[in-house]
Order: sequence, then C-alpha cells, then structure tokens
Amino acid sequence: SIPATVGADLLVPLADGRVTDYANFDHGASAPCLESVRAAVEAALPSYASVHRGNGYASRITTQWYERARRQVHEFVGARDDYQVIFTRQTTDALNLLARAVPADATVIVFESEHHAALLPWPAERTVRLAAPESPAQAITAVADALRTAPEGPRLVVVTGASNVTGEIFPIAELAAVARAHGARICLDAAQLAPHREVDIAALDVDWVALSGHKLYAPYGAGALVGRTDWLDAADPYLLGGGATAAVAGDTTVWNEGPARHEGGSPNVIGAIALAAACAAISEHRDAIEQHERSLLARLRTGLAQLPGVTTYSVFGEDADRVGTVCFTVDGLTSTLVSAALSAEYGIGVRDGKFCAHLLVGHLLNDSPEHGTAVRASLGLGTTREHVDRLVNAVRTLTTSGPRTAYEESAHGCQP
Ligand code: PMP
Repeated sequence: SIPATVGADLLVPLADGRVTDYANFDHGASAPCLESVRAAVEAALPSYASVHRGNGYASRITTQWYERARRQVHEFVGARDDYQVIFTRQTTDALNLLARAVPADATVIVFESEHHAALLPWPAERTVRLAAPESPAQAITAVADALRTAPEGPRLVVVTGASNVTGEIFPIAELAAVARAHGARICLDAAQLAPHREVDIAALDVDWVALSGHKLYAPYGAGALVGRTDWLDAADPYLLGGGATAAVAGDTTVWNEGPARHEGGSPNVIGAIALAAACAAISEHRDAIEQHERSLLARLRTGLAQLPGVTTYSVFGEDADRVGTVCFTVDGLTSTLVSAALSAEYGIGVRDGKFCAHLLVGHLLNDSPEHGTAVRASLGLGTTREHVDRLVNAVRTLTTSGPRTAYEESAHGCQP
C-alpha cells in the first residue's frame, strides 16, 4: 500500500536534538538513512558471518541474505533474467569495473556533461567525447552521428540518467534505441536517477546500470553494476584473490564466472543488505516519493525564479523533466559564500563547487564570468515545504542584504 504522503518519517531521526531543524538540500551527494534500512542492518548484525565459504549456520544464513539482496537489486532495476548483479563499492567502482571489461577494440562514446565517474574510467585513446547536448533530440542525433562514424568493432555508449548538476533527465530509452540500431551497447549511470525515478532495464533496453547505495538512502560502501554478463565473464577479475577463483593448481588459476569473478575478497554483506532494503523501500513508496519531490521542486524553482540576481542553470532548458536538483548562482556573491551563509545563518545544507562535473559546470557558467562554481540544492525524502520556503527566503535575504559575516572562502567548497 502506498501512503498518500511520504517524507522524513521514513528516515532515521537526526540523533542530535540541536539539529532537528536542519534543512538538508544535499540529497544528491548522499541521502540520509531510511528507518527500514537501519532495521535490516540491525537484524543482520548479531549473526553475520562470511558468505560462500563456511558451512556453519551463520555462514549459511548470511549467504542466503547476501543472495537475496542480489535478487532484490536485480528486481529493483527490472533486470532481465540473464543479467547479473555485481556488488561494488559505489557507482564509481561499478563504472570502473565495466571499463576494465570493455573489449580492447571497443569505442566508448560519452557526453562531456557526465559526472567524472562516468567520464573518466574509459581508455582515452578509444573514447569519443561529445559536447554537452543542447536538447534531448540533439543528444540522440549526436550519439547516432558518433556511432555512424565510429571505427569498426564493439561500441559502448555511456550516459547519465539524471544530471547530478541540474537534475535533468536524459532520453535513455531513445539513446538505447539508437545504440541498438547501430549494434552498440549502452550503460546507464543511474546514481542520480534511481533514487527518484523508476529504472526499468528491460523497458529502457539498456545493457548495464550502475548505482550507489548511499544515494538511495542506505549508508556507504555498497553499490552495484547490473547487466549483461559476456564482457564481464571474458575480462580479468577486478580483484585477484579468494572468491574470484574456481581453482588454483600450480601456476594455473581458473577464475569464476558470474558475479563472484569480480567480487574478490570477503564481500560487504551488510552493505548489500542495506542497499537491498533501501531498494525495497523505495520501490514500495516510488509513486509517493515522486509526488513529494515534484511538488517541492516546483515550489523551489518558482521561488528562486522570482528572485532578481539569482540565475539557475539547465542543460536542456527550463522545460526539461528533472529530479529534485537545482543549480544556481547569486549575483555579487561567490557560491562558497552563499553555501557558508545558508549553513551558518539558516541551518540549510547545500553544496557548492563543480560537483565532480567540471566540464559541465564550465559549460553552464560560460556566460557568467563572475562565477567559476555554482550552488546545488538537491531535495529528497528529508525535505519539507518549510525547508523549501526557508531556502527561498534565505536566498532572497542574501540577494538584498548579503551574508551577516564575511565567511572565509574555505577550500572545501571549491573544486570537487
Ligand atoms: N554519477 C553521478 C551522476 C553522480 O551524481 C555520482 C555521485 N555524485 C556518481 C556517479 C558517483 O557516485 P559515487 O560517488 O557513489 O561513486
């Protein structure tokens, strides 16, 4: 049953009473933990043991939990039966794993607007970088053109589901169709999309999806690469060691196939359980989460649009479909100053910088030479209407009166 409304009641309450009115607008970096995730982790803590190794009771139970978590993640992204789930540390790890498995003669096509995790792991000499697209239609044309002119051999298109800078949703199904038409494969970086919108691999017809638990309301340390097996089974194991091996005899090593091949060492069972519990809860509340975020995002965008001196940025334009992320600058104030004042004076947590997407931020801020960095407000389950109003009012006050104090331009806010 889907509740009419969802929100912070699904989250682990803030432990420190002094910060209960903290307005978290940094869900895009990491989302706070769901109560159901905490419960799943707590239930596992008393009796976990090493998976796929021991025959003791705890080992067998933990192995069942681990494999159930794998099935839950598989189901969460609507993967085909023959697709596999490999547990990784996060999206960065998942995409690096795929990069190791890309055949030596493959061409990789990627937009410059990607997060560095999706932009950088591919071999430079075999990667075609496309300029940040201007519209969804132009993105499709650009990929089609690149595929048409790519050298013979396997091709992989890598694309984000939702931009971590602007929240805009890319035309995944259309890009996948173009990839198919050219006999290419496509990998979806779902780090920002999966927490906010359904990701259905079968419907989108993508080959791989990468995601991170900590953006899905679970703690750090677990993510996944879900998708086709062939390139991965043909690749060298990601981590050489126990678990990845089927047999070692003398100098000869036979590596496992399937997820075990790339999950060398003792796996992060508790992380996998947390990730799977988050997936289950998000699926259960999917419609309500979307409704919650859409109404808050509309309120935030309308509020900021009314403020003179505030500029918001988009890849595709104002009408694009997007998750709950807004990227903006304030005339006369650096982004670091804005975020420092929002935090210190209003209890609002935003992020400022280049958001690990230096090329995209450079592209978006081009006509604003005053700003090298921007402010990002990303909402989620922890956000309320009061938070949105507080943020809009705080930015309004900053545009008229400036910050109360001259905050230091601290290093932490700038580059990442
Ligand atoms: N892709 C996108 C679109 C992201 O927003 C992020 C995280 N900011 C990543 C990849 C990398 O995720 P992680 O840091 O969890 O590896």
